[in-house]
Amino acid sequence: MSNWLSASSRPLLISGPCSAESREQLISTADALAKTGLVTAFRAGIWKPRTRLNSFEGHGEKALSWIKEVKEKTGMPVAAEVARPKHVELCLKYDVDIIWIGARSVVNPFSIQELAEALTNTNIPVLIKNPVNPDLQLWIGALERINKAGIDKLAAIHRGFNTWNKTKYKNTPLWEIPIELKRLFPKLPVICDPSHICGNRTMIKEVAQYALDLDMDGLMIESHINPGKALSDKNQQITPIKLKKIIEKLQIRKTTSSEKEITDTLAELRRKIDMVDYKILEALTERMNVVKNIGYLKKNNKITILQIKRWNNIIHNRKETGLKLGINKEFLNELLNLIHKEAINVQKRIMNDNNN
Ligand code: PEP
Ligand code: MN
Repeated sequence: MSNWLSASSRPLLISGPCSAESREQLISTADALAKTGLVTAFRAGIWKPRTRLNSFEGHGEKALSWIKEVKEKTGMPVAAEVARPKHVELCLKYDVDIIWIGARSVVNPFSIQELAEALTNTNIPVLIKNPVNPDLQLWIGALERINKAGIDKLAAIHRGFNTWNKTKYKNTPLWEIPIELKRLFPKLPVICDPSHICGNRTMIKEVAQYALDLDMDGLMIESHINPGKALSDKNQQITPIKLKKIIEKLQIRKTTSSEKEITDTLAELRRKIDMVDYKILEALTERMNVVKNIGYLKKNNKITILQIKRWNNIIHNRKETGLKLGINKEFLNELLNLIHKEAINVQKRIMNDNNN
């Protein structure tokens, strides 16, 4: 997989409505987007995967002729979602330039395999959304299957995940997952879809900015000439004018600096971080060694591992100290829980080891 998008100017921007609703809606949205001069490719959903029956499911083939008209009229490359082999065949017939595979299809390796077969010998660029559930392996599996079909113009789209705990997002970003994908496949372009992460218009800019600050390669943002009247994802679509305002306000930061003084200072600060990290690891090892001694003592004297009173004291005391030191409360909570979990695991191993 190579970064076939890297030559494009940043941010690469794919925009257009969630669904192609009518010829007029598509053409007026595309005209307004083309006028901004910021859009790399136009998107529109032709077949819509809807959760409940009786929702708008797209116009299918008819809408492909509208999207073709958009391409001819504006010169923008066009992108559409495919979920079945027939969709691939029709997209190719109507000269769609880029296709994407939606979050609901990526969860199913059978669907992906069928799409991979339909895509063999096409070499059309394919964008693969993350699966709805937070499973990096499933995402990678889809990328691999499509890549094996000979598609090397591949990119991943991060659109957030459906998680059990409700957050302010419609789909929780879980940024660590796309970051890990980037670490494993440094050349694979990753595009962020703030619209489906947010589920509303108000947070799009902040999520888009954060994605760029994580060095993502581009953005997919839904836009509609009249968002209030949209037949799907009404709350998250923005007008082309609003899109322009958001994009123009985004800060585009570099991955590095060409000034020696800055790179030297950065290197110095990173050396400090390396030293501090080493100290943290040493301190954690020391702590776990004490935990082991406590484990042996408890085992020999038939004392339970968990002592809820002691654990409550630790939480209270460490939180107080940590907060005074200026450590973020949520981070402190997670850190203390992680350390406690490992302390329990270490003692559990000692209790159950009959050789000691
Ligand atoms: C879409 O892009 O309109 C869409 C249906 O997205 P997702 O697959 O991310 O839900
Ligand atoms: Mn949508």
